[in-house]
Amino acid sequence: MNTYLPHFSCGVDAYESIGPVAGLYGKKCALIYGEKAWAACNEELLPALEKAGMTIVESVCYGHEASFENVEKIVSNPNIQNADMLFAIGGGKCIDTVKCTAEQLAKPLFTVPTISSTCAAVTKISVMYEESGVFKEVVNLSKPPVHAFIHTGIIAKSPDIYLWAGVGDTLAKYIECTFSARGDVLTFEQEFGVNTSRMCFYPIIETGAKALEAKKTGEVSFELEKLILNIIISTGTVSITVGENYNSALAHAMNYGFSCRPHIEKNHLHGEVVSYGALLQLLMDNQKEDFELAYKFHKEIKLPTKLADLEIAADDPMEDILAITVVNKELEHVPYKVTAEMIKKAIADLEEYNRLH
Ligand SMILES: [Zn+2]
Repeated sequence: MNTYLPHFSCGVDAYESIGPVAGLYGKKCALIYGEKAWAACNEELLPALEKAGMTIVESVCYGHEASFENVEKIVSNPNIQNADMLFAIGGGKCIDTVKCTAEQLAKPLFTVPTISSTCAAVTKISVMYEESGVFKEVVNLSKPPVHAFIHTGIIAKSPDIYLWAGVGDTLAKYIECTFSARGDVLTFEQEFGVNTSRMCFYPIIETGAKALEAKKTGEVSFELEKLILNIIISTGTVSITVGENYNSALAHAMNYGFSCRPHIEKNHLHGEVVSYGALLQLLMDNQKEDFELAYKFHKEIKLPTKLADLEIAADDPMEDILAITVVNKELEHVPYKVTAEMIKKAIADLEEYNRLH
């Protein structure tokens, strides 16, 4: 068994580390990017690569979807085959595409995340879609990227909404992981991951709102840097160490349920929808203290706390959503059987809580 914990450089000077870190793997690099990401960072990244003594043998957009078609295109590019290393520059979809590519080509991969919404930059899975945008599968890779260069100045200038949704997904990591692992005998790795998941919750509840405020002005504050690291590194560390049984639970299962309503995909972000399910799970599981902390924080930063926030009527029977939720594989490994009735009750209790608070 091999474990590769995330390696990263973080700060407004993160790209200065490219020479000492990536330089060990050669000089010929291929850059594979998302269009917006490239526009956001090339003025800083190109001089940093030059300073690091790198030769760019290819520079190409990955496409617009994390699809196997795009992986195939990149894998068959002779310039990329000739590179000593690959750089994935972008958000989750670009990085996931290039992670699959690097695995196939057996090349070292460095990631340059330009938004902070997921932990894709440091994990060893790729979430793949059809070219049409429909979810296809999660690919398990043999190892994560070698190193992530996290330029906080560039992330601070990215659209606020990605960081906000990233917060929702990150809080859920702690709420779901501690729930699904409860009562089990854990390996060293799993226990390490479950304990690390606290970093996805308490520090964010404490200073996350302040960080999001700083983000609005584009300022790289102390709190913002911590938030970015908790979203990318703490969540990524949990993802790598706990294994597939403990990565998710009701919050993600609910998200899959909600996705049967077309307006959800159209008007709401993944982390936003997941965060509602995470609140529900805390309430269903009678985690009073954490529920109150999370509810207050949701209100403070305007994450959803009730069905209306997801454009669903409070008296919606939800049969379609719950039917998909209860059979979702994220609910296969939880401490007790979660039924549609239990979720329905939690939804009603949460609506009532909203009325009273
Ligand atoms: Zn998620």
